[in-house]
Amino acid sequence: MTLKIMKSVEEAKDEYAETPLVPEVEIKVEPVKQDTVSSWNPKTQLGKDVKSGRIKSIDEVLTNHKKILESEIVDSLISVEKDLLLVGQSKGKFGGGKRRAWRQTQKKTMEGNVLTFSSMAIIGDRNGHVGVGLGKSKETLPSREKAIRRAKLQIISVKRGCGHFDCSCKEPHSIPHTVEGRCGSVRIRLIPAPQGTGLVIGDECKKILRLAGIRDIYSYTQGQGRTTINSAGACMAALKQSGKLL
Ligand SMILES: [Zn+2]
Repeated sequence: MTLKIMKSVEEAKDEYAETPLVPEVEIKVEPVKQDTVSSWNPKTQLGKDVKSGRIKSIDEVLTNHKKILESEIVDSLISVEKDLLLVGQSKGKFGGGKRRAWRQTQKKTMEGNVLTFSSMAIIGDRNGHVGVGLGKSKETLPSREKAIRRAKLQIISVKRGCGHFDCSCKEPHSIPHTVEGRCGSVRIRLIPAPQGTGLVIGDECKKILRLAGIRDIYSYTQGQGRTTINSAGACMAALKQSGKLL
């Protein structure tokens, strides 16, 4: 019996040695297709200004509170990275489904069940600009395209800084002060943290903050944080506050 236990401990040690301490998170990086931007025919005045080169930075658009109605505006001004939030779950018995990027819902009709897929995408440049969008469709892939497009239209600029009393650097690795946001029942408070802390927050909000370019943060969450759509909404509401006050 003891021999068996010893063996399992040895095996566990081997397994532990193989897994790296910090798991690398894979974020899909798709280069901006120059073809779509060059063949873009802008319809709005803002789009024409961007295409002709009169507006050169995304901050110029955001500080003047201009409404972005074409996703190519964001594509031509900054190079963005994309990621999907896990909003749904695959089918499993006893509630044991695995987290998935597609949320599948059903409407009951006379003809049968009509499926709808929704997905949530985030885009960001890791330099203070981030956007979240929700897309719904009858198929999986169109819902992702819609989500990415909406995320680009809803891009915000995040005020970064170093607001922790214990850290006297001037680098924008955290946020300048505590901010709070809510969406549904979820309330999220983001608190500045010193350098080297990392992102002390749920995994889905971590993706948003990483693409926004924030490296260190403490957080406090209240409510049904497992509802990914509401957690993401609360996180974005909090990040919006950081820019508003200054
Ligand atoms: Zn600092």
